[in-house]
Formats: sequence, structure tokens, C-alpha cells
Amino acid sequence: MKSFTIGQNRLSNNMVGGPALSTIKCNVEECYYNEKEHCKASTVQVRSQFPNYITSVSDDTACETFVPKVSIR
Ligand code: SF4
Repeated sequence: MKSFTIGQNRLSNNMVGGPALSTIKCNVEECYYNEKEHCKASTVQVRSQFPNYITSVSDDTACETFVPKVSIR
């Protein structure tokens, strides 16, 4: 499996490419995987933002697959 690096994030080739997953709509335009408000990652990992906390609203979740389009140093 090939892998490459974007900013500080190491990605494998099964995480990009192929058609956009049209069922995942996302407005995080700063994300490398975002294309016209759709996510093009082959898989997406979402987690609760706060460990040991029972999440009851979507604002308390976060996309762990997010990769910035531009690295800010
Ligand atoms: S990886 Fe997460 S933040 Fe990035 S486009 Fe997909 S759903 Fe949105």
C-alpha cells in the first residue's frame, strides 16, 4: 500500500481517489477531502470531541479524517 504525506498527516492511497462519496455532504471547505461540499475520502472517522462525556448534540462531534488543504506553520 502506497502512502504519502500532506502537512503532518500521513495518508494511504486507499484514503483518497475514486468518486466523491455523494452521501457525505460537508461544508468544511478547508479540508483536503472536500470537493464542492462533498467528502471524497473513501472512509471517514467521526468521534466525540470530549472523552468521558456523553454527547447529545452534533456540535460535540468531530471529523478525525480532516486534513487541512494548506499547512499553516
Ligand atoms: S474528511 Fe471530514 S471534514 Fe473533510 S470533507 Fe470529509 S467529512 Fe468533511
